[in-house]
Amino acid sequence: MIKAQIPQIKALLSVPKNIVIVPHRNPDGDAMGSTLALYHYLKLYNHNAIVMAPNDYPDFLKWLPGDDTVLKFETQQEEGTALINNADIIFTLDFNAFHRAGHQMAEVLEPSTAIKIMIDHHQQPDDYAKYMYSDISMSSTCEMVYNFIEMLGDDDKIDATIASCLYVGIMTDTGSFRFPATTSRTHQVIGNLIEKGADNSQIHNNIYDTNSYSRLQLLGRAMQNLKVIPELRTAYMTLSQAELDEFNFKKGDTEGFVNYALSLKDIIFAAIFIESQQDQIIKVSLRSKGEFSVNEFSRAHFNGGGHTNAAGGRSDDDMPTTLNKFISILPQYKQDLNQ
Ligand code: 5GP
Ligand code: MN
Repeated sequence: MIKAQIPQIKALLSVPKNIVIVPHRNPDGDAMGSTLALYHYLKLYNHNAIVMAPNDYPDFLKWLPGDDTVLKFETQQEEGTALINNADIIFTLDFNAFHRAGHQMAEVLEPSTAIKIMIDHHQQPDDYAKYMYSDISMSSTCEMVYNFIEMLGDDDKIDATIASCLYVGIMTDTGSFRFPATTSRTHQVIGNLIEKGADNSQIHNNIYDTNSYSRLQLLGRAMQNLKVIPELRTAYMTLSQAELDEFNFKKGDTEGFVNYALSLKDIIFAAIFIESQQDQIIKVSLRSKGEFSVNEFSRAHFNGGGHTNAAGGRSDDDMPTTLNKFISILPQYKQDLNQ
């Protein structure tokens, strides 16, 4: 674990370095909150740091302090590659296998000789980092970055900017402090962040109360498409590319939709299948309540992974084939789903 290595990391960070901070592809609130918080922290020590996102992220995260400094590898490959090749240290946050940064970026990260530091709470980490702070019991990578700064003895350096970034990831990854990984410690950290200047109500508003009309209409369509399999305590939704187009889909618009399926009484397993013409895949998002591991389910059937109660994956088949596959494998899990 990282605690014993903290003195080494402290020494490493005692002189300004070239540092690249990477979140996973399709970054969410925790990915952007944690990377930008770390960016602002490293800047206090005059490091030449940059957050390099594999691709773009939703508009509801674009108010985050430091958003204008983020490099997007997908559209700035040349610049991104040079920065990675020139980096002394690469932090990988909120993911734990290079392929989660997307194939193009993974190809540049893999041969890099920079010192890798992982901070992450997903299951089954790959073994690429010299310094690994991996803890699957953690609510969020943002809570871990808070711990990391605290372990470095710098909690007094957490200002309103860093606090706001960290608040975002803890809030979004815990479903606003309600998922089981939310502990008393999580609330203590949140309390400290508010004391340090995070404006909790404003942040909540920025993330959750900035819907477009078309997004709510798209949610309506997803709800209409909801199917329930009561004997397997499963509910699932679909959105085709045509439906996304009809409601002027923008990145992030479907974030959280799957939770509505999980909110049904007696349902413990929920899925949403979203067609992507551009990637030629069906993106799968899975959620569960209790013991049923959607991480295992996704690894076994949908080429993905994540956490016990929240995971993602993909299917290379078309929508009807993907749904048939899903429906036909479910009975294998009948016992697990009815525990
Ligand atoms: P979402 O369904 O919101 O895309 O993702 C749920 C959780 O699973 C997040 O923690 C996300 O990082 C993780 N996840 C999403 N897609 C994948 C995937 O393809 N592979 C792995 N290993 N994790 C994923
Ligand atoms: Mn996370």
